[in-house]
Amino acid sequence: MTLLPAVPANRTLGGSDIAISPIAWGMWRLAEDGRSAAEAARLVHAALDAGITLLDTADIYGFNGKTGFGDAEALLGEVLAAEPGLRGRMVLATKGGIMPPLPYDQSAEYLNTAIDASLKRLKTGTIDLWQIHRPDILAHPQEVARTLDAAIAAGKIRALGVSNFTTAQIAALNHFLGSKLVATQPEISPLRIDCFENGELDQAMQLGLTPLAWSPLGGGRLLRAAGAHDLAVADALDAAAAKAGVSRSVATYSWLMAHPAGIVPIIGSQQPERIAEGTAALALRWSREDWYAVLVAARGEALP
Ligand code: NAP
Repeated sequence: MTLLPAVPANRTLGGSDIAISPIAWGMWRLAEDGRSAAEAARLVHAALDAGITLLDTADIYGFNGKTGFGDAEALLGEVLAAEPGLRGRMVLATKGGIMPPLPYDQSAEYLNTAIDASLKRLKTGTIDLWQIHRPDILAHPQEVARTLDAAIAAGKIRALGVSNFTTAQIAALNHFLGSKLVATQPEISPLRIDCFENGELDQAMQLGLTPLAWSPLGGGRLLRAAGAHDLAVADALDAAAAKAGVSRSVATYSWLMAHPAGIVPIIGSQQPERIAEGTAALALRWSREDWYAVLVAARGEALP
């Protein structure tokens, strides 16, 4: 049986020279449960020690917490201040552009303030990957591009990405940018397969964008599978996982990574052993038969 190609262990972020791991760790849930800086540091170490160097956060993460906004970035900033050597070991990705209750603002004035605030909270001089979190329908892409190019020129940001953008929104923004996009971050999982067929991944390959998959386990729903559809998806993943002797989570990450666009799943767990376990996905190779069996279960109907 022919296997799909192995996932390269070393990657760069889009067309940039920024080296990343083929799997990332996300901090959406970092500031939950009253986590201390020492506990957060343990998670950062778990990711880095496992070879996961791309770390993703956002200014909005933790907005239900102490200060109402920016708690996840601030917690990571505390970790970095306590152990400055960590910063150089990671590719630091964050996002901005959502400010409740607006909800979205990509005016030059707001973006400049948001980027400066993120740098301050993260206690760092530069953000490796800065992403627009969600598109602001009221912002002209030319103005957004001008603002972000200026932030790159000022050394505040090394590379740019977007999240939750349509293909047309990506094309329009990229057209006006001097420093072209290197990443896009849509929701992708076996429970969210839209981008396999709606052109997002095809565009990523065409433009050389690295697709970062948010909620790769469906926010954990894949592990609590219930209902005929989710159970069928879980069964198809478990069949491949059993052959390889790995968990359903690892099989899921590797299923995403097998796509030719070079999807980088963002692990959402805040448990050190589950973060480290994710890297086992690199060793798994899929047959076309098993890969398509998961897709067919996810579609809920046979392919034409
Ligand atoms: P996920 O990996 O799909 O889900 C993580 C959740 O699943 C956690 O609550 C985790 O709990 C649980 N889980 C993981 N392994 C499990 C297991 N074996 N058994 C039971 N539960 C398990 O990812 P996510 O947290 O939803 O999202 C990942 C990252 O994507 C975020 O951190 C963020 O960086 C990014 N994101 C981006 C956007 C966007 O709009 N751009 C939106 C959402 C997320 P434990 O912590 O207890 O393991």
